[in-house]
Amino acid sequence: MKCGNLRFGPAGKPIDLAGDLLEAPSFLKSIGLDAMEYEAVRGVNISKERAEKLGSLAKENGIVLSMHAPYYINLSAVEREKVESSIKRLLDALQASSWMGSYVVVFHPGYYLDWGVKEAVSRVIQALKDVRERSEALSAGVWLGPETTGKAKQVGSVDDVIEICREVSRCRPVVDWAHLHARSLGKFPKDPGDVVKVVERLESELGKEAIDPLHTHFSKIEYTRGGEKEHHTLDEKDYGPEFKDVCEAYKEVGVNAVIISESPVLERDALKMKKICEEIC
Ligand SMILES: [Zn+2]
Repeated sequence: MKCGNLRFGPAGKPIDLAGDLLEAPSFLKSIGLDAMEYEAVRGVNISKERAEKLGSLAKENGIVLSMHAPYYINLSAVEREKVESSIKRLLDALQASSWMGSYVVVFHPGYYLDWGVKEAVSRVIQALKDVRERSEALSAGVWLGPETTGKAKQVGSVDDVIEICREVSRCRPVVDWAHLHARSLGKFPKDPGDVVKVVERLESELGKEAIDPLHTHFSKIEYTRGGEKEHHTLDEKDYGPEFKDVCEAYKEVGVNAVIISESPVLERDALKMKKICEEIC
């Protein structure tokens, strides 16, 4: 198999860009990157005008945009008000995404709490069906992207994400390999074969469209017993997982992917990942 179309970019404003975020698309193009995740992790507060401007600049410079929704989302919360405000945050993210032409809204679905896995996932699904109904008019084209999460108490195993996307329309899996590594306390993925298995399973359960492209987050990561602690750079040898395992696997299955660097050095590591893939491909 030869490599599919692989795009790389930072999670948020490039660290080496001194100017405004609107300069990010041309900056990224100039250094050889072609994706960016807009970070709305502390709340969606971009104006329609600015979002549209960012979108048109991204288009001009060949940058594919995605958006990370606020961290304060818990679709399986016990309290109805918390679920309601989580739904509202997702609707805001979908709206802003459609203004800027971002193709997917990435989010952490919720927590298991005392529900147990099955009930927690089913509550997430119910809330997302509600989101879909209420977002029909404003952002029908944007995908919902539940992400694999880094802590054992968070909804977001590969199984959870598959279950959610099977039940919710226009839902695509977002695979954060660092989170899976932290969640499994370093046991997974241990080699390219593990990555291949996940990608093939996503395709067989959710269909080709959901993984074309496969939206991916990557960095190295440090974990404790509860899972994710801190993201690290690719150069830090003490931490995993290995990006070359991911790229070798993507080559083996020939999947197209958007690979977002969540490393502390953002676009610098996105460039390193691109280089690793270029060597493998
Ligand atoms: Zn995330």
